[in-house]
Amino acid sequence: MELTNEKVRCLIIGSGPAGYTAAIYASRANLSPVLYEGIQPGGQLTTTTEVENFPGYPNGVTGPELMEDLKKQALRFGADVRSGIATASDLSSSPYKITIDGEKVIETDTLIICTGATAKYLGLPDEAKYAGMGVSACATCDGFFYRKKNVAVVGGGDTACEEAIYLAGLAKQVYLIVRKPYLRASKVMQERVFKTPNIQVLFEHNTIGLFGENGVEGAHLVKRLGEPDEEKVDIAIDGFFLAIGHKPNSDIFKPWLETDEVGYIKTIEGTPRTKIPGVFAAGDVADPHYRQAITAAGSGCKAAIEAERYLSL
Ligand code: NDP
Repeated sequence: MELTNEKVRCLIIGSGPAGYTAAIYASRANLSPVLYEGIQPGGQLTTTTEVENFPGYPNGVTGPELMEDLKKQALRFGADVRSGIATASDLSSSPYKITIDGEKVIETDTLIICTGATAKYLGLPDEAKYAGMGVSACATCDGFFYRKKNVAVVGGGDTACEEAIYLAGLAKQVYLIVRKPYLRASKVMQERVFKTPNIQVLFEHNTIGLFGENGVEGAHLVKRLGEPDEEKVDIAIDGFFLAIGHKPNSDIFKPWLETDEVGYIKTIEGTPRTKIPGVFAAGDVADPHYRQAITAAGSGCKAAIEAERYLSL
């Protein structure tokens, strides 16, 4: 198949806070950026409810609203925002080549990778078996289907607590399945969980399978797995939500860029610069530490400034 080509000065991949902030800065610097939205337009924040910690919103803002605002701001300065997914990359020499949807190649002088991260699963065959039938990695997307039902959330971090609290407002009973004897989440989130009467935290529990005829009807758990007092526990649930962290979306760049053992793109410390001149990585795809909307936005800004400087050399 003959792939069509287009040449641009600045290509941004991804439409989370990093991508849109890079687009705002790159447009204002006259780089005429083209931004491809990727698999999840608006990024991970479109699956959150309230964002209370993004500076400038004293009363909070919903994730989708914040992303819509960022998009509007990028469009206002002329960013060319397109739907499409980057499916391959060739960063062997400049101009760098990115294939979109397997059918079009964009050649670019500068590339800003803001592809973010994707929810992780436990790796149980039952997760695939019940996909779309009771298994979900996004409470705010799918919680609605579990009104007055019983659900479980797996994980002990801020995401798991946030999802459990959100689901507790809809469901009858929420089990929070935590593999350690404590929560990793911030103190404020922990307190909210403990104060919510219909959340039961199951510490030191691991999920080994799911069961049900035409969808999830329950989960097989093991308490204190591998210990002498190990105990099998079954819970009756209609929904099983994963909140155990994320995997950076860096696979198509791995032949060219260095990543850490998890897959986060390595950048030169304190900058979004990769080892390839003119190629930058910003936001969650390059951030194993902070992973916040505001830090992603900050790194997107840095990447656009770097791109502008690189082009003016
Ligand atoms: P985290 O990496 O912080 O937590 C992941 C949780 O999942 C941990 O409790 C971990 O357990 C558990 N886990 C991982 N793998 C497995 C497994 N195979 N089986 C069972 N449990 C597992 O991810 P989050 O998504 O919660 O948060 C990511 C970042 O985003 C954090 O920095 C967080 O603070 C931030 N965040 C902030 C929010 C806010 O401020 N409102 C909201 C959401 C996220 P263990 O502890 O045993 O490793």
